[in-house]
Amino acid sequence: MPKINSDLVLFNELVEVLLNEEHKHPVADRIEADKLYDTLDLSLNPTPIVDNKLKNLLKEVVISTPKTATKLFFNQLFGGRQSKAILGDLLAVMLNNSMYTYKVAGPQIGIEQEIIRKSCEMIGYGPQSNGTFPTGGSMSNYMALVMARDTKDSHCREKGMSKPMIVYTSRESHYSNSKNASFAGIGKSNIRYIRTDSKGQMLPNHLEAQIIKDLDEGFVPTYVNATAGTTVLGSFDPIDKIADITEKYNLWLHVDGAYCGSVIFSDKFKYLVDGIERSNSFSYNAHKMLGTPLTCSVLLVNDKKHLHNSFSNDADYLYQTDSDDFNLGKTSFQCGRRNDALKFWTLWKSIGTNGLKQIVDEQFELADIARAYIKSNPDYTLYSFNNSISVCFNYQGIDPMTLCTALYEHQITVVGFGSFNDDTFVRLVTINTNNKEYDILNFFKVLEAYVSKNSKIKKLKKEVLEQAE
Ligand SMILES: *Cc1c(COP(=O)(O)O)cnc(C)c1O
Repeated sequence: MPKINSDLVLFNELVEVLLNEEHKHPVADRIEADKLYDTLDLSLNPTPIVDNKLKNLLKEVVISTPKTATKLFFNQLFGGRQSKAILGDLLAVMLNNSMYTYKVAGPQIGIEQEIIRKSCEMIGYGPQSNGTFPTGGSMSNYMALVMARDTKDSHCREKGMSKPMIVYTSRESHYSNSKNASFAGIGKSNIRYIRTDSKGQMLPNHLEAQIIKDLDEGFVPTYVNATAGTTVLGSFDPIDKIADITEKYNLWLHVDGAYCGSVIFSDKFKYLVDGIERSNSFSYNAHKMLGTPLTCSVLLVNDKKHLHNSFSNDADYLYQTDSDDFNLGKTSFQCGRRNDALKFWTLWKSIGTNGLKQIVDEQFELADIARAYIKSNPDYTLYSFNNSISVCFNYQGIDPMTLCTALYEHQITVVGFGSFNDDTFVRLVTINTNNKEYDILNFFKVLEAYVSKNSKIKKLKKEVLEQAE
């Protein structure tokens, strides 16, 4: 049997092990970080490992790796498994194309472009629009910022910045905004963090006041990052009102929809990004709300000339055939580029736009179920708002950090915490639509059972309460 065939048999065997484990132990037995190298033989050696040993070792690795697709994983802004997307990604690995030229990617170029075309159409971008698949939401934000910079100052690419440019984003926005300002040569101190209202949404009047102040002081207001789904609360900045300002003062408007930009697929929730067609760029992560494997990030640009202006460099050794429309390397950040489009396309093709819409709607329904439960039970305090798939709460006044860590260390459930203003709370993310009502209610059940059985947590609870008094 050729090697690849026997390795695929082994692959299937390992997948069986994984699925079994996920069922039996939805939260993997945890290896403490300082015991990792003593527990698993991860060492690399001069001589090969024999097949049977490799197989056993791989099983051990699979079993002890955190399980992100199970019904008790609520920690991250991704989770679960869309099987048709998995199929597409496995094929992408076998095909192993690079997305820079038509010569080596062929129809995969059309697959990526069709996703981009359809997405642009859905958000009301015109015929000049296009996009690319960056390595993630952070990179999407970075590419948007670079295009904004080059649009504001056309000499910037050659000569560097001539005057300090200013970037605006809300306090609740993703931390990549800060890193990106430094990468782009703008500087972290030239970010203005705009205040939000009590629901975590950017306050447009504060944005405008800050822009006017910066203009008065001789700065160059350049870029506004609006967020569609803030990382902690899942709030949506008011895009229409922000667009009034960016149009008036001629700033680039980017909408960071990494977390919840996929609401564009839902008739019911796309109003949350009203005004999106007025933005200059928009990004969403299909690996978050749409459940494709990591990473799958789509960046759309209202006018594709900006992608070319900022990211193309001629390279004769690479671009030998076909036109720019098929040589996607001219509009990407990197050179060799993984095919992140096929997995999204197989999913979209197999369940249709209606299926994607249903995935998005179900997440909001699951969040409604969680919020209703919390509101009906006086032991809980709710901190988040309707129309968000981040459900933030505290239970019996227990310190959320202590609670989340204990739940994880005892393999009860994996959930994280976050904070907004002066509050810190547990953040339950209802992004996995493999979950049903029962699974959401079960999350609360296992949490409550754990607290009622665990005296240590109760003691900690008391201490926290005493401190508060
Ligand atoms: C997750 C997230 C990002 C970063 O996306 P990556 O793909 O993890 O780089 C950016 N912005 C928001 C709002 C996010 O939630």
